[in-house]
Amino acid sequence: MRNFIAIMPPSHQTLCKDDVAEAASLLRRGELVAIPTETVYGLAGLALNEAAVARIFAVKNRPHFDPLIAHLADASWLDRYVRHVPEPALALARRFWPGPLTLVLPRQENIPDLVTSGLDTVAVRVPDHPLTLQLLRELDAPLAAPSANPFGYISPTTPQHVLDQLGGRIAMVLDGGPCRVGLESSIIGFDGDKPLLYRLGGLSREQIEAVAGPVEMSLHQSSDPRAPGQLLNHYAPRTPLLLGDPALLAWEHPGRRLGYLAFQAPPDGPWMTGRVLSASADPEEAARNLFRMLRELDAQPLDYILAERLPDQGLGLAINDRLERAAQR
Ligand code: AMP
Ligand code: MG
Repeated sequence: MRNFIAIMPPSHQTLCKDDVAEAASLLRRGELVAIPTETVYGLAGLALNEAAVARIFAVKNRPHFDPLIAHLADASWLDRYVRHVPEPALALARRFWPGPLTLVLPRQENIPDLVTSGLDTVAVRVPDHPLTLQLLRELDAPLAAPSANPFGYISPTTPQHVLDQLGGRIAMVLDGGPCRVGLESSIIGFDGDKPLLYRLGGLSREQIEAVAGPVEMSLHQSSDPRAPGQLLNHYAPRTPLLLGDPALLAWEHPGRRLGYLAFQAPPDGPWMTGRVLSASADPEEAARNLFRMLRELDAQPLDYILAERLPDQGLGLAINDRLERAAQR
């Protein structure tokens, strides 16, 4: 599950600009365009075009059993692609869309099996970025978009991150600047009307429960393809990452090239380099910085990245989830 190399060879120049009309015309021709969202950059193709969706999986080297999120311009599009919207789903959509919340709902027949990995449900979301919303309205069609990185690696939060890994393999990056939230969306499914939290992300459990009532966690990590999106080796840098008290971990690894990833302040230790996620101990700022800093550390010649957990509340829970996945070997 390590060191993925996208299997599609570089084939063309990747444009990088903020031109929505050009992005729309490329997508209409079945090309792939990386799109800005508030969470992370997505690798988008027309969701109803099976050939485009197949290319998304090929470019990412993503297994077909890991379904994609369909991005909509607004909640009124649900009627086109979803059979039934449970009451709490509607309340969540009204409150948080556009925003970092994905809803898994019973799908209509028009959504290709490839998008949903053959499941009877489709994951949908309205992303909160003006360029991508404009693009969706112009296309008047949903975009399938997983994060724009090779499968298993850290998600991209800037256009440069996308170009670093997928440059030459996709037609364009729609440049919408750095991502405001920096973590993938929170994913909610339903058992009847009962909400289940499949993935912690840019919307905290507390925010979700304030609208939907108590939400059961369904986060068990697994290598079982029937638990889509809950695969073990996700969001990982190539450099081994150890999670715990960085100063203590540094003592346990003498003579190694070490980098720290700390929440609020640099820890003691013989560091080669390091990053502080938020000097003001703000979990939202930490979320915004997390993937960029992991990439910066991963680019250094380090033996280990030693990272610490955040307090288990608000976005801290989602950040800790990503750090735990990054630490999986
Ligand atoms: P990504 O866009 O890379 O963050 O991944 C999308 C994730 O959405 C998948 O890995 C799944 O966790 C989740 N997902 C998409 N569709 C479904 C579905 N029908 N049922 C459950 N989870 C889904
Ligand atoms: Mg992803």
